[in-house]
Amino acid sequence: MKGEQYLLLPGPTPVPDRVARAMNRAMINHRGPEFQEILVSVTEGVKRVYGTESKLLIYPSSGTGAMEAAVVNFLSPGDNVLAVSIGVFGDRFAQIAEEFGAQVEKMDFPWGEAADPEKIKERLEQDKNHEIKAVLLTHNETSTGVSNDVKAIKEAAGDHPALFIVDAVSGLSVVELKMDEWGIDVVVSGSQKAFMMPPGLSFLGFNDKAMTAYENNSNCKFYWDIGAGLEYLEKGQNPFTPAISLYYGLEEALKMMFEEGLEEILQRHNNYRRMVRAAIREMGLKTLAADGCASPALTSVIAPEGIGANKIRKMMQEEFDIVLAGGQKTLDDVIFRLGHLGYVRQLDLISVLAGLETVLFKAGYHIELGSGVKKAQEFLIDMHE
Ligand SMILES: *Cc1c(COP(=O)(O)O)cnc(C)c1O
Repeated sequence: MKGEQYLLLPGPTPVPDRVARAMNRAMINHRGPEFQEILVSVTEGVKRVYGTESKLLIYPSSGTGAMEAAVVNFLSPGDNVLAVSIGVFGDRFAQIAEEFGAQVEKMDFPWGEAADPEKIKERLEQDKNHEIKAVLLTHNETSTGVSNDVKAIKEAAGDHPALFIVDAVSGLSVVELKMDEWGIDVVVSGSQKAFMMPPGLSFLGFNDKAMTAYENNSNCKFYWDIGAGLEYLEKGQNPFTPAISLYYGLEEALKMMFEEGLEEILQRHNNYRRMVRAAIREMGLKTLAADGCASPALTSVIAPEGIGANKIRKMMQEEFDIVLAGGQKTLDDVIFRLGHLGYVRQLDLISVLAGLETVLFKAGYHIELGSGVKKAQEFLIDMHE
């Protein structure tokens, strides 16, 4: 029997029925009072998730659109930028900055590891004349399943005046991030990860310091220009036609998030991280990321010797309709990624672990059936005690 897919990707993530139903409504005038009410309410809601009282704009794009918006509004051609990368998305941010004329200095860390705050501190301390105008950083690196300690990195930067621009597309509401409290100047996020929404909306939060950079900015921009966005937001509108259906969905998704509680959501994801890792290890498999930096959003699992990661993914989909993500770039066929962010429940993960054991067994891997599942069940019992 063919049923619905179990989407265990680190984006797009499963969409709850409540959100899907909310989107199934007639169009309204995007310059009328009904839309204004929704726009004001979801903007406030997303700001609450960000932990900010600063400005926030919503774009009709995937996350990369808001990354580009951050670059064209806050970086000028010729600006020196320190781009910290721990994987594919860190590389992407560096590339966007480069395309728009910034002088990008990459600081790369090995894939599977987090950025070392000490190294960033050293580099910024060397920059006595404050030539570095911005630091680009990934909150949660989705390609490897590693979270950066954004708070520690920001603290390590001390009083260096560079703008701190953080890609929190897959990390927001999964790993703690307090934009105002930690003094992060620009935060980018998107709808299709922990927000339990379809792809198509991105978020750009920015503070007064970023506004100053914008006022002196010389980059080319039109669609992404925050000046137009802010002017229209005052009137309760977007400069251009917004993705109205997605706003309906976002309103409902935020309602669900606040019903669960932001702290509780972080806790839930952290529990998934621990549960899945314990089960994976019990199966005799290795994870790419070490415990200290492992992401609560997803787990990167190294495929066993002789069985490619993509074969496991193919079998999971064919036999169980379970969709896992593959490795990107050099990690292709080496790892598979099991997303556990957003609208994912305990039982979904137990099912996935059971499916994985079955598939591994069939592929010839030596495993005691039920071992990983049992570990996960034990974790759940301990957790509730
Ligand atoms: C998903 C994601 C993005 C955005 O990718 P899009 O495909 O443009 O939505 C950016 N950064 C990270 C860390 C992500 O996980």
